[in-house]
Amino acid sequence: MKQTRAGTEKLLALHEDEVKKLTAEYRQRQELYNQGLISRAELNQTERARAAAMIRMDEDKRWIAETDIAITEASMRDVLVGLPAMAPGGYSESGTLIRFNGTASWSLADAAKIEKFFSQAFGHVLPITAFGQTPTHDRLRFDHRNAMDVALHPDSNEGRSLLSYLRQAGVPFIAFRSAVPGAATGAHIHIGSPSVRAVAGADSQGVCCKR
Ligand SMILES: [Zn+2]
Repeated sequence: MKQTRAGTEKLLALHEDEVKKLTAEYRQRQELYNQGLISRAELNQTERARAAAMIRMDEDKRWIAETDIAITEASMRDVLVGLPAMAPGGYSESGTLIRFNGTASWSLADAAKIEKFFSQAFGHVLPITAFGQTPTHDRLRFDHRNAMDVALHPDSNEGRSLLSYLRQAGVPFIAFRSAVPGAATGAHIHIGSPSVRAVAGADSQGVCCKR
């Protein structure tokens, strides 16, 4: 069955409840274990179930974020195509977009450098939602093969710091400030060339026509 956003939101609510229930159960069992009433194995069993439920919950959240970001880009495609071409090294900022036409020959293979910069600066991993082409992009008939998306608001502390790193390194990016209405998590930073082409083989209607 095809995964939908509404369906995933329902699943997320179920998985969140599951985590809550298992967290309460774990605390209860910990108490029982401390009193010597249950074995370590019984306690571990609940701990494992709770960890698995948390993974399911995080996967739902990641899928929703990835989908909202891809929809934001696809729906901004016409706007991006209509913007005046930027000179190499050009930079522009508006209420919705920040664009930088960096001149470094960047490819996805160079992503590790950016991830390293970020984790050293902030002590956690770069929140990448899409690395290259994903099934969501295929569905939207959107060419995202040589780009990656990072779920950071460009005006946040971490977002600003990432953008200034990318500018220094000459890596092209487009930062989306505002989400498309209804897609609460659409603000993000797209690293790599803009994905304005529809994937080869896509129909002449271009991206995202069936709604
Ligand atoms: Zn992107």
